[in-house]
Amino acid sequence: MKLDLRFYGDPALRQKSAPVAAVDDRLRTLADNMVETMHAEDGIGLAAQQVGETVSLCVVDVPATGDTDEAGTRLNPDVAMPMILFNPEIVEASDATDVYDEGCLSFPEIRAPVTRPSEVTVRWTDRDGAKREQRLRGLVARCVQHEMDHLAGVLICDRMSAVKKVTLSGKLKRLRRETEQALGLA
Ligand SMILES: [Zn+2]
Repeated sequence: MKLDLRFYGDPALRQKSAPVAAVDDRLRTLADNMVETMHAEDGIGLAAQQVGETVSLCVVDVPATGDTDEAGTRLNPDVAMPMILFNPEIVEASDATDVYDEGCLSFPEIRAPVTRPSEVTVRWTDRDGAKREQRLRGLVARCVQHEMDHLAGVLICDRMSAVKKVTLSGKLKRLRRETEQALGLA
């Protein structure tokens, strides 16, 4: 089932997630619905807050074509997609960083360069409740970090440079106002 997306200005996006004690059928259904919603919206990642939930859960699906270095070599051939991550945590992050123009399903038509560690080792609980740990690289590493930000209530507008935020301030204000009006908050 496709779920309704939450947009910038929705208080749900600022809520911090609570850890999942055990992966049960309700959470598996939520995860599956989040994957369906992400695919329907042409996204490569989605966090629980973006569908109004506050559990520590995000999903990621980076296509093979987006998982290569400049020479065309796969960066994460051993990472199965879609990823369903309960209680993700970063165990180790590289000193090396990358800058990339990020988008977000909760910020339609807004993109901004964000600097993040190039590689991260992430530990999480999978759909079957099993503990997993993998080193992630490239766009997959970036996407998981972006979704983990959501789980902490952190948004792309908090990560962009002050200059970029000024450039986008009109668009951000408009989106926030539209969301607040739709929710009856403004
Ligand atoms: Zn996002």
